[in-house]
Amino acid sequence: MSSIIGIDLGTTNSAAAYMTEQGPKLIPNALGESLTPSIIGLDPDGKLLVGRAAKELQVLHPDRCTALFKRYMGTDWKAEIGGKTFTPEECSSLVLRTLKEDAEAFFGKPVPQAVITVPAYFNDQQRKATIHAGRIAGFKVERIFNEPTAAALAYGFHEAREEKVLLIFDLGGGTFDVSVVEIFDGTLEVRASSGESFLGGEDFTRTLAARILDGQGQPFERAEMEAPRLVARMIQQCEVAKCKLSRQDSVTVRIADRKGDFNEQSPETTITREQFQKWTNHILARIELPIRRVLGDTNLKRTDIDEVILVGGATRMPAVIDHVTTLFGKPPHRRLNPDEVVAIGAAVQAGLIARDESVQEMVVTDVAPFTLGIEVTKEFGLEHRHGYFLPIINRNTTIPVSRLKRVGTLVPNQTELAVKIYQGEGRRVEDNLCLGEFSVKGIPRGPAGQSIDIRFTYDLNGVLEVEATVVETGQKFSHVVTKHARGLNVDQVQQAVKDMNKLKTHPREDSANRFLLKRAERVYQELSLEGRDLLTRLLDGFEEVLELQDKEAIEKFRKTLKDFLDRHDAGEDSISDDDKDDWYTP
Ligand code: ADP
Ligand code: MG
Repeated sequence: MSSIIGIDLGTTNSAAAYMTEQGPKLIPNALGESLTPSIIGLDPDGKLLVGRAAKELQVLHPDRCTALFKRYMGTDWKAEIGGKTFTPEECSSLVLRTLKEDAEAFFGKPVPQAVITVPAYFNDQQRKATIHAGRIAGFKVERIFNEPTAAALAYGFHEAREEKVLLIFDLGGGTFDVSVVEIFDGTLEVRASSGESFLGGEDFTRTLAARILDGQGQPFERAEMEAPRLVARMIQQCEVAKCKLSRQDSVTVRIADRKGDFNEQSPETTITREQFQKWTNHILARIELPIRRVLGDTNLKRTDIDEVILVGGATRMPAVIDHVTTLFGKPPHRRLNPDEVVAIGAAVQAGLIARDESVQEMVVTDVAPFTLGIEVTKEFGLEHRHGYFLPIINRNTTIPVSRLKRVGTLVPNQTELAVKIYQGEGRRVEDNLCLGEFSVKGIPRGPAGQSIDIRFTYDLNGVLEVEATVVETGQKFSHVVTKHARGLNVDQVQQAVKDMNKLKTHPREDSANRFLLKRAERVYQELSLEGRDLLTRLLDGFEEVLELQDKEAIEKFRKTLKDFLDRHDAGEDSISDDDKDDWYTP
């Protein structure tokens, strides 16, 4: 086995995999599942929950949970749960730490290294934040790797001898990412990437919930403010319903009261797949612009695409598969589970890094997702106008890359020059994102136009270094762009490690029980009085044997309880299994 694991740190779900002699394999979590929801929560006793237990807690206590934090990586956003605040890096580190513990339990030894994937359009700040999250979780992050490249690796396209153009279509829970990947001579190259950071399966779920609530005379936006528990419950119900609609023609959804509870009179509504597709067509339509952009960037027509690969759980929706088939005139690849593809590919990459010799056999290249450059002043007649953007590395340039541009001083005897670094596609810097600045000093006095060389170096992790050289003296000023790290320096990472370690957690071997209890609490509120009685008896018994630590009895109760909940959730659990079957059908 390779000593490095591959991790898909997803917006909605995360997964880890490793390389074996027989190929990549997923690492099961404490519940024996391959996907761990990227959700964290705090129990009333201040103990931390990660994954499915937190997802269950979220239904009843949305205020004590946080999700979708990947969207805020590299920003000042903070999650506030149970009176504690967490940065996006800290939230992510808690998910990573859970995956690390799962891997260590699985292998029975420490797992210190990881390859972590990010969306191709993640900027420098977001990539650095991901590295920090990995470090806080105790990993040595061997590589930050683009998700679409990982998907192409998972499908083994790097072994293809012929030249091919792939389009990776990744519709996850919260993000949409489309990339063109080219293969030649066993080399994989991401030619261009585009995407939308606010488009994914959750939008389909929310639209379904909103339409159902609207139909009940409860405008969704108002309900969100006034009845958050009702909304949380509806989202949970609608996610299950949405997934069912990928396999069946209609589904029944129960509508909770404003406190999020159910009773005998709770109304029900039946939604057909057709209805659902009509309601969500406008979301599906939004996938077209990024596709057009990525084809435009590569000068390709739709018919030039040889293969389309589907990634992301939301691509299980028949409407998505149909839409993609129509757009490209051919059915997409979906032999692998779309929500596991990226972790599988990350494991292949981890294996390649671990065995240096085979890395040389295959070169994986990536692109800079945004144009990078500096601010310059332009001269119009006698007037100096500031604020123009001078691109140094163009968007979609293959990385690693190092590019140099020469600039000059503006006025005579100018001894200092400010280098302001920006990323973006705007002609003026005000339309772009400032990444940092530094000054070049000690420029020899003389007429205007003293030369300064600005070198931008973008490495394989998508991390940028900027160096300025005063040409006449050879004096160099290099810059670590600290603003990227949003002030998270080494000390702060250390501090975050300490803070995260101080959090109380449940022992890992309790995970399955913890999840069952949380799930039972959620189901309890959905039951009739009779059902509640039965569940109460089961739960009381379960808690008692847990207290007594009677292993055999715990096992027995656990099975009975799980059967009960499975029956109640009417196939909710079997969804993924059934889907797997569909998925693997040749
Ligand atoms: P991410 O990359 O954002 O972490 P995933 O690839 O795990 O996300 O996809 C999660 C999304 O896929 C969720 O919105 C989930 O509801 C959706 N999803 C999973 N299975 C199905 C299904 N069978 N039908 C429709 N949507 C699904
Ligand atoms: Mg994903």
